[in-house]
Amino acid sequence: MVQFVGVPQMRRWVSTVGAESIIGSLMEAVREDLQHWRRFDKTARIASHSPVGVIELMPTSDGAQYAFKYVNGHPSNPARGLQTVTAFGVLSDVASGYPLLVSEMTILTALRTAATSGVAARALARPDSQTLALIGAGSQAEFQALGMRAALGIDTVAVWDTDPAAIEKVVRNLHGSGLRVRAATSAADAVAGADVVTTCTADKTNATVLTADMIEPGMHLNAIGGDCPGKTELDAAILERADLVAVEFEEQTRIEGEIQQMPASFPVTALWDVLNGEAAGRARAHDVTVFDSVGFAMEDFSALKYVRAAVTGTDFVEEIDIVADPSDPKDLFSLVAADARVGA
Ligand code: NAD
Repeated sequence: MVQFVGVPQMRRWVSTVGAESIIGSLMEAVREDLQHWRRFDKTARIASHSPVGVIELMPTSDGAQYAFKYVNGHPSNPARGLQTVTAFGVLSDVASGYPLLVSEMTILTALRTAATSGVAARALARPDSQTLALIGAGSQAEFQALGMRAALGIDTVAVWDTDPAAIEKVVRNLHGSGLRVRAATSAADAVAGADVVTTCTADKTNATVLTADMIEPGMHLNAIGGDCPGKTELDAAILERADLVAVEFEEQTRIEGEIQQMPASFPVTALWDVLNGEAAGRARAHDVTVFDSVGFAMEDFSALKYVRAAVTGTDFVEEIDIVADPSDPKDLFSLVAADARVGA
């Protein structure tokens, strides 16, 4: 039998434990796996592009377990009442090849993306950061805000989106969270005076959500929405202005991240090297740091492993029969032959 966490179970688990608490724990899980990146099989994800979006498979293994995520990115979906990003994933046992867990990953991706932003911000942002500018108020937004509080203890959020209803939704959803949330009047208004800026917009184009004149000394940017060829958020001048640009898996980020706008020689730092102390992070309080996030398979692996450990033995998980497993391993036919005889 395979463990299964569907949307109802994931919703109940997150509502019971709390999104921020889970993001905090996931930060530890993601950080630990990133620190052991040499153990992992690393490949850029396999992407199938269409004019309106992308469908991707994101596989990795640490030699003991294997995981993959199926995920799409369709920025025009919300106009049709659909999510931009949906996902599900599988965790398997390498020794037998048998799947252990099948899980919904639309909610889990939002949690793990917030956790990854948190890991990067804890390594790169000023530790005294208090204010967050959130540019893009869609599905990822509230998770990103809670993740920045879990990572840095930020207490104030200024939120901007080209869709006023999305801003109102974030203000409403974060009401009662203890965060001071302000609806900004423009991207520049949101960013002014912020310690951390997270861009999580969706548009299948080379957009310029932020320009270099908005960037103040000491800021840390999490650029999470530019994650596909031809889909970026930052003015290239911001990358030139930055003192440090950190990436997940450089080979993938050069194709998919903000740095696709830059020459191949543009210097970047691997986040896992910063976490391991093998590369320097922020050197000075007034440095500008950027985490050019695209989402990497190891983060999904960490999330699936964490979910499995957290829900095993609870009613947040059920078992499903999706592996045909006859008692005689050579006699698969008996499974259907027996049924056929019964029906005869
Ligand atoms: P979403 O469609 O729910 O929300 C995106 C929001 O951006 C919308 O409210 C839209 O109005 C707004 N927007 C678009 N252009 C804008 C602009 N120029 N200025 C301000 N707001 C603008 O999408 P989502 O699920 O919240 O995802 C956000 C982005 O993050 C997507 O691009 C997605 O692909 C990406 N993403 C990245 C990772 C990662 O690991 N890096 C993980 C998940 C999602």
